[in-house]
Amino acid sequence: MLAAGIQYDIFFYNPNIHPVKEYEIRKNENIRFAEKNGIGFIDADYDVDNWFDRIKGLENEPERGERCTKCFDMRFERTALYAYEHGYDTITSSLGISRWKDMNQINGSGERAASRYENLLYWTYNWRKHGGSARMIEISKREEFYQQEYCGCVYSLRDTNRHRRSQGRDRITLGVKFYGREEILKPDWTELNPNLN
Ligand code: SF4
Repeated sequence: MLAAGIQYDIFFYNPNIHPVKEYEIRKNENIRFAEKNGIGFIDADYDVDNWFDRIKGLENEPERGERCTKCFDMRFERTALYAYEHGYDTITSSLGISRWKDMNQINGSGERAASRYENLLYWTYNWRKHGGSARMIEISKREEFYQQEYCGCVYSLRDTNRHRRSQGRDRITLGVKFYGREEILKPDWTELNPNLN
């Protein structure tokens, strides 16, 4: 988007991310990129209680199932409300860049949320096409972005660890993998937020 001259702000609303250490790591990566490129950054609530209320009863749904629809709906609804109240005419999301995601599911939630407000558009751009996936890796390596190893919620962490164990692999260790770095590092994230310990 930067290369195309599209002006945008980052709205970070991810109360789904668990635990708070992972949330802080991902948020700080967004802030780092935003500050470096002069992009506005809106730090929305981490209202985990509302998130858990919303997905109650769907704890054992698989990824791309009904739990994820509720999760996307909640995050897009807050994004659309903020956009409407602050005069933005378009919202979109980079969620669909992941090959683990269902673009139709994401777009459905985005369009539902935007349709609540007049003159607000959800941009259904397919980030994976036109070399988008390769570009994502290229930028991630250049910026040495943190490499998340599960979608975000406690249930996706549980299911990813189950899968890894079934393959004889170690459980996920938070905060250690970065694109473009050969070695696995363990930075002191408490420098960013002393509440992480
Ligand atoms: S797997 Fe991802 S999209 Fe689905 S509920 Fe969990 S955090 Fe949300």
